Amino acid sequence: MTGLMNETLMIKFLAIAAKHGRTAEYPPPLAAGFFKKYFLHAYLAFAVMAAFPGFSSAWFDETHLAIAKAAGYPKWYNAAGADIAKIKAGDVESHNHRVNNPPGTLITPEMIMGQIKKYNQINRKGQLYGAIIQSTRDYIRVKAKGKYGEYHMAYCAHYVGDLTMPLHNIVMNDFNKKHHLTIDGIIDNGILNNYKKIQIYSIRIRSEADLVKEVARIANLSMKLGYELSAKERLLTRAEAYQQVGHSASLLKAILEYAGRQGTTTEETP
Ligand SMILES: [Zn+2]
Repeated sequence: MTGLMNETLMIKFLAIAAKHGRTAEYPPPLAAGFFKKYFLHAYLAFAVMAAFPGFSSAWFDETHLAIAKAAGYPKWYNAAGADIAKIKAGDVESHNHRVNNPPGTLITPEMIMGQIKKYNQINRKGQLYGAIIQSTRDYIRVKAKGKYGEYHMAYCAHYVGDLTMPLHNIVMNDFNKKHHLTIDGIIDNGILNNYKKIQIYSIRIRSEADLVKEVARIANLSMKLGYELSAKERLLTRAEAYQQVGHSASLLKAILEYAGRQGTTTEETP
């Protein structure tokens, strides 16, 4: 399995190397041992990321974990799982992680409701907002059956993180392609030890309609910020990034409270 996996990645690597006009030797012959030991994983990670250029991971793993931790989610350590799923599920999963909103879009509750049925489907426009709603529904439904619903909440926690990565709310323009990975990792280093610096504010969700409204609010401000960065050709500042993940953590906290209450009252239909 590992050999086959490496071979597949090697083919992808060669294709990428050829595309970028590099000499396609794998690994470079002069430093093969050194390369193998120290850089193979980095090259493989690059090959995987480059194989999905339109749908990179949004915030890096530790940023996702920190958001979930700041929100008080007991299973915070599952919050990067949705990105792990992309490796095997490809576009079936990756289109849940963003929405390509053209400039001038107003993200409305109706638009979000329309994305729900597209959850886990191949849809180039992306259905991140609908994915947040459907994964919350799935969690509530499964939990009400007395079963283990936490993997649905793990997906939800991840999508709520992606919601505030500004470049996951705008089209894949040249700016987005060029700076996506840099912005993904802008506050990742050390954030897990500093998750308490993420500022939480109070959001109250009493119904699914409230949830949809909050997703629309945060999506609009994230999209606006994304287009501002793109127009000014500048990176996200650390302060802006912390503010963004603060929206995610606050929303996730509110979803956990809402879904927790629903889980105890929802009637089950087999
Ligand atoms: Zn993601």
